Amino acid sequence: MRSVREAIEQLLLPTECALCHALLSYARSDRVVCDVCRHRWRAVRPPWCERCGQPEPHFGPCRLCADWPGALRVVRSAVWLEAGARDAVHALKYGALGRIADHLADAVAGIVLPGRDSAWLVPVPLGRQRLRERGYNQSERLARALAQRWRRPVVDLLTRVRETATQTALTPQARLANVAGAFAARRTASGGPTPGSRPGVPGAPRHGLGVGLPERPLVLVDDVFTTGATLAEAARALEQAGAGTVLGVTFGRATLPDFT
Ligand SMILES: [Zn+2]
Ligand SMILES: [Zn+2]
Repeated sequence: MRSVREAIEQLLLPTECALCHALLSYARSDRVVCDVCRHRWRAVRPPWCERCGQPEPHFGPCRLCADWPGALRVVRSAVWLEAGARDAVHALKYGALGRIADHLADAVAGIVLPGRDSAWLVPVPLGRQRLRERGYNQSERLARALAQRWRRPVVDLLTRVRETATQTALTPQARLANVAGAFAARRTASGGPTPGSRPGVPGAPRHGLGVGLPERPLVLVDDVFTTGATLAEAARALEQAGAGTVLGVTFGRATLPDFT
């Protein structure tokens, strides 16, 4: 649901690209990102590790996903987190225009995942404090925009049980330690569709967490994949709650010199 503030901003600033501030043509005024900015996003393409979607390592098995929980099967990202895409993620996180999520979701929607057609989308949750500061969870916005494109329900199955330090400056090992035990699956009937889910979506859950969970793929949705530590930890919590298949999608993927 769009906030009043967003609606007003949309009225006042209808024709400017949210990223480069170029004026958008009238025909494009339903968009918030211009074609030039979107075409700067560089898609992540194979060859990649079939599991984590990272470009194939030169020697030996993939180190990035070796320690992932077994339930986490396939993770893919839409674009490399380079200048243009980084601006888009920044706008999603700190911008007032909720519609930017539509552009990011357009890029993510092209990702093919096994079992996608019966999956539930699970946003990676924010901690309570960060949610209060930001006012919204950017991953949930992305998940909801993606849900419209994939016609799958968004299900708030996870909570963040403790705040974690901002990950930007941490090494891969430190990132793993930083998010260890950060998530827990919700236990109650609140596993049903959260407010704002489109009614009538096929496969929308009617019961609490646990019903059909072992069979149904759950797709974790996050804005950015750096080392995969956050997705792995979120998947671990879902696995412990009984999930058999967890998948993951992110809009951006950070370039890690060590892993390519
Ligand atoms: Zn632009
Ligand atoms: Zn891998």
